Amino acid sequence: MKAMYYEAFGARPEIRTLPDPTPSNAGVVVKVEATGLCRSDWHGWQGHDPDISLPHVPGHELAGTVLATGRGVTRFRVGDRVTVPFVSGCGHCHECRSGNQQICEEQFQPGFTHWGSFAEYVALDYADQNLVHLPDNVSFATAASLGCRFATSFRAVCDQAKVKGGEWVAVHGCGGVGLSAIMIAAALGAHPIAIDISDDKLAFARKMGAVAAINARDVADVAEAVREITGGGAHASIDALGSRVTCFNSIRNLRRRGRHVQVGLMLGDEATPEIPMAQVIGHELEIYGSHGMQAWRYDAMLSMMAQGRLQPEKLIGREISLDEGVDALMTLDTTTDLGISVITRF
Ligand SMILES: [Zn+2]
Ligand SMILES: [Zn+2]
Repeated sequence: MKAMYYEAFGARPEIRTLPDPTPSNAGVVVKVEATGLCRSDWHGWQGHDPDISLPHVPGHELAGTVLATGRGVTRFRVGDRVTVPFVSGCGHCHECRSGNQQICEEQFQPGFTHWGSFAEYVALDYADQNLVHLPDNVSFATAASLGCRFATSFRAVCDQAKVKGGEWVAVHGCGGVGLSAIMIAAALGAHPIAIDISDDKLAFARKMGAVAAINARDVADVAEAVREITGGGAHASIDALGSRVTCFNSIRNLRRRGRHVQVGLMLGDEATPEIPMAQVIGHELEIYGSHGMQAWRYDAMLSMMAQGRLQPEKLIGREISLDEGVDALMTLDTTTDLGISVITRF
């Protein structure tokens, strides 16, 4: 198979011909039809992710067609159109048995713990627990954009923050996760407020449903600006970026009994943020983490898409080839693209 491949962190990935994968007993091989580029791929390539061992094939946001199945697979057949959450569960640990595959103790992550989808074919383990059948009306490119950012935001907004119609929702950071969260919160009838340092991203966020936008560079105090707009603070707030500043602001801008959800990964220097714990106690704030989404929760997301209430395809920017994906991967940390780039030609 043709694949993007690297042997050293930070070195230019190559397009190479590698042996075709074969399915494990509980796994499948999927012919990749579309695969999204994500900042996590860039972090992995830089060597920031301890799950990756070299040599490596990146790519974790994928959709495609089942090409081969292991003998133990019962729910999927050759030819099925499928996608998969970027965190897949083992199916037998305590968390998987409680329905929380997104925090599985032995999780399988294509593109991190295993070779991923920047390739013609990808092997996916534990298929019955983790694969999702795609409705015919969802394109492969749209489906590829779901597995990481959109599904993660869906869980953060619906299941962790439990956002309801009429509530104010502050969203800190308007990259893929933040824009998805804004679209999902708006679809639930809530009032999302977009916060970023780029006017272009804030303008795009308004198109996705934000009712107000704050450029953090233009205000002295972001939390105060949110409190002013909302008349006392947001009911729910999401740090979609993952930094000490956005995490702190996201907690501080809550109204009493508000809910903060940390979605943006806290890496390197940002790993240990300051938490205004006196406010957490005095105002009975709730603080949640959110990490991917279980395959079984895709039904709720896909049905909102079928009703036209969610349109994740609006977040797609460029469709590119696997060869073009090399430069796109290497520049993910500096790109000013508003939409997600998806590889659809191999
Ligand atoms: Zn991703
Ligand atoms: Zn598990």
